[in-house]
Amino acid sequence: MHKFAILCKFIPDHPPSSTVPPPSKSLKVLLFAQLFGNPWMKGICGCKFSSKRVNLLTWAVGLGADVTMDLNTPVQYLKGVGPRYAMLLEKLNIKTIRDLITHYPIRYEDRNNFMSISDIPSRTYVTIRGKFQTVENVSTRRPNFILTKAVFADPTGGVVVTWFNQKFKLAEITKIIGKPVILYGFAEESNFHIEIKSPKYELESEDQVNVGGIVPIYPCTEGVDGDRLRKIVHKAVKEYANLIEEDLPKDIREKYSLMAKRDAIVNIHFPSDNETMEKARRRLVFDELFEIQLGLAERRRIFSAPGKGIAFAFPPNYKKELKEVIPFELTEAQKRCIREILSDMTKNMSMNRLLQGDVGSGKTVVALAAMLFCIRNGYQAALMAPTEILAGQHYISLSNMLSNLGLFDVHVYLLKSSMRAAGRRETLKAIENGTANIIVGTHALISEDVVYNKLGLVIIDEQHKFGVLQRGKLKDKGDRPDVLVMTATPIPRTLTLMVYGDLSVSVIDEMPKGRKPVITHHKTKEEREKVYEGLKKLLNRGEKAYVVCPLVEESENLQAKAATELFEDLKETYLAGYKVGLVHGKMKGEEKDAIMKAFRSGDLQVLVSTIVIEVGVDVPNANTIIIEDADRFGLSQLHQLRGRVGRDGGQGFCILISDAITEESKQRMEIMTKTCNGFEIAEEDLIMRGPGEFTGTRQSGLDGLKIANILKDQGILEETKEAATELVAKNPTLAGEECLCLRNNLLKNLEKFNLVSIS
Ligand code: ADP
Ligand code: MG
Repeated sequence: MHKFAILCKFIPDHPPSSTVPPPSKSLKVLLFAQLFGNPWMKGICGCKFSSKRVNLLTWAVGLGADVTMDLNTPVQYLKGVGPRYAMLLEKLNIKTIRDLITHYPIRYEDRNNFMSISDIPSRTYVTIRGKFQTVENVSTRRPNFILTKAVFADPTGGVVVTWFNQKFKLAEITKIIGKPVILYGFAEESNFHIEIKSPKYELESEDQVNVGGIVPIYPCTEGVDGDRLRKIVHKAVKEYANLIEEDLPKDIREKYSLMAKRDAIVNIHFPSDNETMEKARRRLVFDELFEIQLGLAERRRIFSAPGKGIAFAFPPNYKKELKEVIPFELTEAQKRCIREILSDMTKNMSMNRLLQGDVGSGKTVVALAAMLFCIRNGYQAALMAPTEILAGQHYISLSNMLSNLGLFDVHVYLLKSSMRAAGRRETLKAIENGTANIIVGTHALISEDVVYNKLGLVIIDEQHKFGVLQRGKLKDKGDRPDVLVMTATPIPRTLTLMVYGDLSVSVIDEMPKGRKPVITHHKTKEEREKVYEGLKKLLNRGEKAYVVCPLVEESENLQAKAATELFEDLKETYLAGYKVGLVHGKMKGEEKDAIMKAFRSGDLQVLVSTIVIEVGVDVPNANTIIIEDADRFGLSQLHQLRGRVGRDGGQGFCILISDAITEESKQRMEIMTKTCNGFEIAEEDLIMRGPGEFTGTRQSGLDGLKIANILKDQGILEETKEAATELVAKNPTLAGEECLCLRNNLLKNLEKFNLVSIS
């Protein structure tokens, strides 16, 4: 038994528990006998070289061993694959047989249009049933250039089939002369006969994989061509699809008219007709989305369980105080969002809410309302921002607004990574002993040594800039505090369900009164001088402006260098004599603070910057932004950058300088000049770049989608949400045989769901 266990360990990917074959026939026993009877083999047994393991297994298979293969067996053991091809398949993320049969086609080719040879028109793809009659290699006038020519005929006539420089075709075709064959290719008239170059063909007596039906086209890679891959997938589907587990309970399958999983796998690869293919696709898309929605539904259920959070009470004077601290009339949307948030906070469950609002829609004061509510209940509130500039700015504006209370009982503290040791020590002490009511900071808020006294509310600004771990850590610093995440990245409506399916969402869909849309122009590099001439006129009138340097994605160092160069250049050329400042990510915290302060106060007229100003920076009376080489930025980034201006009711201007060479960059410039609506822009971005690329959703469950298309499969997405919510309500622990697969998948995917969630 002991030795048997060693062997199980020794054969990769075969957990002993899953398939222990009957001892008399099993490969493992066979191997065992072979190995342990042979002292040399004994030595190898303990070694870790996988190539040797592979060889051993191959060798054992060669000896006629009865290998128990299953869906988790590495593909290399599949007949016709082998270690070398397996390595190529790995590039397509295909490691096991399961991966192979869930490597779905990207499209299909209809090779089903059977025709008699006499009916073939010129220049069409055709499928013919017939026989090869003759074949020969013909030399051509060009040296080293061989033409293989065959005649292929059916009862109505014949066509000439040719291959260039594939000498081996001669032998291959000779072998099948006279046998019934199905042939597919592009027919063209040439010298009064029909010719088909390099067709695909298969014996009628064998399974047709590449011709004669709806043929799947797979994503391929170098060294893996479609025909061979198709053959291997076909073999795997034929032999192993029956091992595929049915992972949806029967009532769900019936309610949503879903095909059985096994049938879906077979028919997604080799459908008999389009309708069956669509049905198979529907089932698999449903599975994929359902898995995600199930995870999200489970989270929703956990979070909405009562008794697991702080039930804040309405503080006396709250409304009056709020009026005092906020210096303007709130928009209706802001009021609604505040109501929604406070309603969550008063319940005795943890709040898990997303506040979504376009740049400049006024999320900060909504956060302030929630924080005031929290601290008046005797708890601490923490606000985490992605950059030091932004944290500093929040600190200043919150302190300013709260000072309107005229009392000195609210203490706002700022915690950053770049702080002097003494200041940091003092701040930490205040946080620990509870003197600090509101703590604003960067990810410094989650450092080991920060101990909160009584953390009741966690707010994360521009949440997409943070990793999940960071977000979760801040939450863990308290005892089930309420969580509010804020984002200016307008997630298209199509995606909210997917990405934030487990959060409640509040949307600020209205701009503060008097806010005018930023006027956006697209200028070429040739017009650059004119642009700066225009800017100087504005500066002479006392206005302020940002200039954003071209995006360098490679590294922050290069980015800083680019900004410095642009800064030096502008100071010497177009903006000579004006007060120009520079800010980039490589600067020390204090340096950045000083520059931002100077820009805010008007000591600087122009701020040259990298995209560090992309998020949240709020200098109300800076009304112009010039973006150099604008085509290097994505749409969402451009929109965020543009959101820096026109914030105090003045008219904002945004100038995009770019020669926009590619079609796509032209389109981006056009969209920017056409609309100022963040949601519209996000939808366009989604269409242009696809969900995987979408800012802020990277790392979300979206990346893993193999077959579902978020834009196309909206309907199924809704259905899966409904089905998942229902199932979780009915069977919260996913108990029972029918839910076994779902339960296992859920456990496996827990990490993935963490990525989408905030907690
Ligand atoms: P964002 O949603 O991009 O974080 P901010 O919270 O920074 O936006 O607000 C943008 C600007 O609009 C700030 O200067 C803020 O003071 C101002 N603001 C917010 N709400 C209102 C309002 N209801 N009326 C007038 N100005 C407002
Ligand atoms: Mg903001």
